[in-house]
Amino acid sequence: MENVRTIVFASHNAHKVAELRRICGERFRVLSLSDMGCDTDIPEDGATLAENAEAKARWVYERYGCECFADDTGLEVDALGGAPGVHTARFAGPECDSRANVDLLLERLHGVALRSARFRTVIAHIDADGRLRRFEGTAEGSIAPGRRGEAGFGYDPVFVPAEGDGRSFAEMAADEKNAISHRGRATALLIDFLQSSLI
Ligand code: IMP
Repeated sequence: MENVRTIVFASHNAHKVAELRRICGERFRVLSLSDMGCDTDIPEDGATLAENAEAKARWVYERYGCECFADDTGLEVDALGGAPGVHTARFAGPECDSRANVDLLLERLHGVALRSARFRTVIAHIDADGRLRRFEGTAEGSIAPGRRGEAGFGYDPVFVPAEGDGRSFAEMAADEKNAISHRGRATALLIDFLQSSLI
């Protein structure tokens, strides 16, 4: 295909890369870190989602010198004062996986009536000239009392988006989730910008 713009996505997460490729369609060629032959886990020790996203994008730009973007996502649970937030990936501990994270979330919210929560994604994009821009998307919703559905990844089985029909993200087809999700929205803003900057 001619004139397809190539952009590096600073992620090893196969689920996220697949989601992003689906959202970007054929307009852009999204290469993951693994596609670049890179197996480094870029540190995510910033105090905010924006700091983490920017640090990952800068790391890729400094190493490869090409147009790239990175994202960071947090789940903010109102009954937990906005936690786990920037610690969402490591909620149950540094070595823990999504199963342990979701188990801990369900345990913390056991018997709690206030279930409101939101996913927030910040995307940091660096263009070929090294200029940084940020895009943000949110999805409001609530935490279900237990897991439902097999699709998606991470906290999807317990997150019920407010704009849906009561199904969790993990009970939705990929395109349904992407149309109302935090990352879908942040990516739509990124794509709008990329299209407006096409020459
Ligand atoms: P990351 O910033 O994309 O690495 O995500 C941080 C944490 O949020 C990880 O535990 C992910 O599994 C989780 N997460 C990110 N995006 C989603 C999503 O769309 N659905 C469910 N969990 C997510």
